[in-house]
Amino acid sequence: MTVPTPAVAGRAAVRTVQGDLAPEALGVCDAHDHLFLRSPRLPGQELTDPEAAAAELAAFRAAGGGAVIQWTPHGMGRGAEELPRLARDSGVRLVVATGLHQAVHYAPEVLARVGTDPAGLFVAELTEGIGDTGVRAGMIKVAGGFHGVDAHARWTMAAAAEAHHATGAVVGVHLEAGTAAEDVVELLCDEHGVPPRRVILGHLNRFPDPGMLRRAARTGAFLAFDGPSRAHHATDWRLPDALRALADAGHGAQLLLGGDTTTAAARSVNGGPGMPHLLRRQRHWLAEVLGPELVTRMLTVNPARAFAAVWPSEGGGRRTADG
Ligand SMILES: [Zn+2]
Repeated sequence: MTVPTPAVAGRAAVRTVQGDLAPEALGVCDAHDHLFLRSPRLPGQELTDPEAAAAELAAFRAAGGGAVIQWTPHGMGRGAEELPRLARDSGVRLVVATGLHQAVHYAPEVLARVGTDPAGLFVAELTEGIGDTGVRAGMIKVAGGFHGVDAHARWTMAAAAEAHHATGAVVGVHLEAGTAAEDVVELLCDEHGVPPRRVILGHLNRFPDPGMLRRAARTGAFLAFDGPSRAHHATDWRLPDALRALADAGHGAQLLLGGDTTTAAARSVNGGPGMPHLLRRQRHWLAEVLGPELVTRMLTVNPARAFAAVWPSEGGGRRTADG
């Protein structure tokens, strides 16, 4: 059982489900994963069982894990009410997301309930809490499309940018098959003014074109290499060389690692790689190519910097949230 090291008011903090945490207390962090997830696109594979989540977290903790960032956004069964107890019992710090995924991950009535002010909803979940749980989100998750950004992505990213400006929260982006990094940065940063260092480009491992990765890195955004989940493993063997090239080009401080367990079958407690794989195997494989020091930084100081924000003081947000 752990009590988070409280953050100092006015200083950058990671907003966990148990409260604000001094970034240096985050520990070894899986920067993109899921304990709870529900999507019409993954029928029969829903992550809804709190006891299975507890077992997966215990396995992650036993492998040396200290923190998990759950990228499940609004309306996809985040399990916000379960997360504080799971964090307390496991000793693993947990961050939960607000934001919206691609439209295909929602029944139309769920998106209809979001209404016309998604930014207000995101800000409320970041500053007041998710529903009536009192559990505050610590990041904003949105999604691009395949080699482009559709109207839904433009709508959610405009709202994500507005919520970032109101709260300082980092914006994590699901890149569809690892594509459209440049389109996303142009939209979020050039059009909507989000500083690149407050954007995390996710799933880059799924499109390991060295030129594309270099261009994504040059934007200044954080780069998340999050896998393998069962559905996306074909490019796993490219990961060590891709990270080596980025580190050699001076981008080591932008690199993040995650497990992205999206289905029940992918959990370690069901025989899959799950959350522990990152620490049990992958960190050692990567250390052979990158050296242990860089891999440790990718698992500790990089995520601490990526997810820390100077949050608005209580009740002092720059806009009132009515979502
Ligand atoms: Zn994910």
